Amino acid sequence: MVYQYLLRVNPKTASNEDYLKTYVAKHYGLDYDDITTVRVLRKSIDARQKNIAINLKVDVYVGEPAPETEYIPTHYPDVSSARQAVVVGAGPAGLFAALRLIELGVKPILIERGKDVHRRKRDIALTGTDHIVDPESNYNFGEGGAGAFSDGKLYTRSKKRGSVDKILNVLCQHGASGAILYDAHPHIGTDKLPLVIENIRKTIIRCGGEVHFDTKMTGLIISKGRVRGVETANGKTIFGDVILATGHSARDVYRYFAAYGIHIEPKGLAMGVRLEHPSHLIDQIQYHSSEGRGSYLPAAEYSFVAQVRERGVYSFCMCPGGFVVPAASDLKQVVVNGMSPANRGSRWSNSGMVVEVRPEDVMSGAIKSPYVVEPYELEEKLRIINANLSPTKIKELNAYILPVLNLQEQLERLCWLKGGQTQVAPAQRMVDFVNGKLSTNLPKTSYTPGLNSSPLRDWMPKFISQRLSEGFQTFGKNSRGFLTNEAVMIGMETRTSSPLRITRDEETLQHISIKGLYPCGEGAGYAGGIVSAAIDGERCAEALAQQLS
Ligand code: FAD
Repeated sequence: MVYQYLLRVNPKTASNEDYLKTYVAKHYGLDYDDITTVRVLRKSIDARQKNIAINLKVDVYVGEPAPETEYIPTHYPDVSSARQAVVVGAGPAGLFAALRLIELGVKPILIERGKDVHRRKRDIALTGTDHIVDPESNYNFGEGGAGAFSDGKLYTRSKKRGSVDKILNVLCQHGASGAILYDAHPHIGTDKLPLVIENIRKTIIRCGGEVHFDTKMTGLIISKGRVRGVETANGKTIFGDVILATGHSARDVYRYFAAYGIHIEPKGLAMGVRLEHPSHLIDQIQYHSSEGRGSYLPAAEYSFVAQVRERGVYSFCMCPGGFVVPAASDLKQVVVNGMSPANRGSRWSNSGMVVEVRPEDVMSGAIKSPYVVEPYELEEKLRIINANLSPTKIKELNAYILPVLNLQEQLERLCWLKGGQTQVAPAQRMVDFVNGKLSTNLPKTSYTPGLNSSPLRDWMPKFISQRLSEGFQTFGKNSRGFLTNEAVMIGMETRTSSPLRITRDEETLQHISIKGLYPCGEGAGYAGGIVSAAIDGERCAEALAQQLS
């Protein structure tokens, strides 16, 4: 027999199966010796009161063994001689699209501009230590996409529980811990992600799919309103319908679409800074205890949101016990983001603190970068793609199609200049920022390239800095101790989602004017985060396979 119960236990005992057996036997009148397994189905921390409790939903197996694997395995057939489709980009969207194509009997040819996840690790380390950014191999580009050296948080606001469970099960099948299936806030950790990603690649290849690294798509082959395949920088032509999952940092892809008049539209996103506190401080605040998390609780999380003059100000991608990382994807940029290892054991906790920015805010001039990238640079980027564009057309594209993307680029360049033209990032203590005061010194940080004290308040667009300042004051009132000079703001976080949408038909998921092209994942503007990008990858694969059949 299998019984399901809800338990409320203290943090010390929540992971002790023997204790749970005793607890269940006592409270539900079962014989301890008959219980074979207590399997946790759901686990969440209730930290609202001083006495912190763990809520568990468990399956109790009585007189019969529990199934061996915690996850539900997916069967991947051999597709080596099946019809092929091209998947561009090996981030979560592209990888899950490729796996789903295999499940549905289509052979995926997956191309990725960057390197495999292990070679990529070396390039990422060099960004931290030697300030070198490789435009093809960085925190955004390479096997696993932006998801590889990410925090690996797997919770999503998606209401499609079935789709979320499927993604988590596939991740477990490829080596992720079974805990992600029951934790209310599942998390893999940057140290465990590469193995999972490598195992996914092995499944794709074992089943007859192909994976090509160092292979950048440079153009789409389109005839009579239908995509026929892609061209690559190393001279390959690959034929088939195309799932385009290139992520939000592939600015050359957006410019390619703009230059060739393929429909895309500007989209809003949020921009701000990374805010880093000592993790013990966040633990003390969130767990209402001067002892912080103690021995049995994980590094504490937080989530803040406020509405400031008609725009959202909120914490984004919170990384308890994590690191702030240099996430630029090109030269002369400083962009920050956050990640954490599986044990969330660093001395810091960080999150993006960002302000909602809409396309109309940029087009109306309500938000402007104080530093404007030379217009010739923007023109140059479009000319490289298509020499035939007239100067008027280039101006029009930059003004109406690419303004949010251009703003991101300008702010990232500005941070690079303010940091000292390396990966050193400009930074200011939190209270100093609110009071408009230059920080005379900065606290220790997890950001390895280093920080440069800079009056962020003076040079960040007022649209962002004023709202952040007001938001911080609200957060500080609601959560005593949060607004503190022990926290440092690191500039800037500009890539919370994509600045453009590659518009697709809602039913067929194909581009609105090009058949056979499936804009997919975060870069297409239809997902945000690892799990939602993976779900979108599966959906695009299903739409493509249905069309083929
Ligand atoms: P991406 O992951 O961006 O993948 C796109 C891929 O396409 C890249 O590998 C790129 O190299 C490739 N590509 C681009 N252009 C071309 C081309 N022309 N030819 C061939 N290949 C190309 N999300 C979470 O849910 N939880 C987290 O904890 C989390 N932490 C993060 C931490 C960091 C440091 C970063 C940078 C991001 C984090 N994110 C997190 C966001 C998450 O990683 C993204 O939302 C997700 O990876 C988007 O998936 P995607 O497949 O749509 O795009």
